[in-house]
Amino acid sequence: MALTDPGVSHSRRTLGKSGLTTSPIAWGMWRFRGQDVKAARTLVETALETGIDLLDTADIYGPDNGEPFGAAEALLGKVLAEAPSLRRRFVLATKGGIEMGTPYNSSPAYIASAVDASLKRMGVEKIDLWQIHRPDHLAHPARIAEAFVALRAAGKVVEFGVSNHTPAQTAALQAYLPFPLVSTQPEFSPLCIEPLYDGVLDQALQMDLVTLAWSPLGGGRLLAPKDDRTRAVAEALGKVAERAGVSLSAAAYGWILAHPAKPIPIVGSQTPERIREAAQALTFEFTRAEWYAVLTAARGVPLP
Ligand code: NAP
Repeated sequence: MALTDPGVSHSRRTLGKSGLTTSPIAWGMWRFRGQDVKAARTLVETALETGIDLLDTADIYGPDNGEPFGAAEALLGKVLAEAPSLRRRFVLATKGGIEMGTPYNSSPAYIASAVDASLKRMGVEKIDLWQIHRPDHLAHPARIAEAFVALRAAGKVVEFGVSNHTPAQTAALQAYLPFPLVSTQPEFSPLCIEPLYDGVLDQALQMDLVTLAWSPLGGGRLLAPKDDRTRAVAEALGKVAERAGVSLSAAAYGWILAHPAKPIPIVGSQTPERIREAAQALTFEFTRAEWYAVLTAARGVPLP
C-alpha cells in the first residue's frame, strides 16, 4: 500500500519555501551498512516504492556499525552511481558536525568541509536538507549562520535544520539567519516523550519546523520489551494495533504522527518487509483516549 493512498488524512510535509515536499514518513540510514550494493539498492527502492521519499543519513553513520566515518553516505553514493535516476525521486537529508574524537564542531570551516565531503561521498551535486547533528557549545550561531548562507549561495545545500537542539539553541541560530530553518530532529517515540515537555514540539508548531522523529521504535526496544515500562507501552500500543488491524510498529509510528506538529517518524529498519509495513501507519487514526493511554503508560503514572 502506497503512502499516497487517497482518503488517508496524513498529508505531505513542506520543507521551507524551496518547494520541497516529503512523505509523512522517512527512512533512515543509521544502520545502513555493508558492501552489498545490490542489497543496499533494494532497501532504497523499497522505501521509494512504499511511498517514502525523505531519506535521512549522516556523515557519522558508519562507526556505530563497525565501519569508517562516512560509510553510510558512501554506500548511498554507490547505489546512486549504479542507478543515478533514483536521486530525482527523494529528498536527501544528511547531517554533520560530529567529528570523531572532538566530538562536536560547527565552526564555519568545518561545516564547509563536512558538506563538501558529504557531497563527494554520495556523488551528488546538492543536499536538500543539511542538519547540524548535535549542538556545538563553542560555535557562535552568527558564524554558523554565515556558513549556511555561503552553502546556500553556492548551491550546495537547499534547506537547513538542526538535530538534538534545545528550543533556545534553535531560536538562537534562527535569530542570525536571513532565512528560516526548516526542521528539527529530536528523539521522539512512545518510549521517548521528552519533546512533548521540553518545548521542542511547541517550537516546531510556532516556527513551522518539520519535526523528524529519530528512533521511533526506541531503536527496536519497543518490539522486544525488557522492562516493565516498555512492556506497558507496548501493551497500550498493542491494543490500538489490534483495533486498527496494523502492526505494533505501525501503531508506534501512528502515535508519533498524531501530534499536531505532524512529526515524521524516521523508520530505521533495514528489512524490506518492515519498511513496507510502515505504510500501515497511514491507514488509521488514534482516538484521543488511545493516544493518552499510550502516553500514560510511557509516563508510568496517571496524568493529573
Ligand atoms: P527505530 O525504528 O527505533 O529502530 C530500528 C531498529 O529496530 C532496527 O534495528 C530494526 O531491525 C529494529 N526492529 C525490530 N523489530 C522491528 C519491526 N517490527 N519493525 C521495524 N524495525 C524493527 O529507528 P533507529 O534505527 O534507531 O533510528 C531511525 C533513524 O533515526 C536513523 O536511521 C537515523 O536516520 C535517525 N537517527 C538520528 C539520530 C540523531 O541524533 N539525529 C540518532 C539516531 C537515529 P531491522 O533493521 O532488522 O528491521
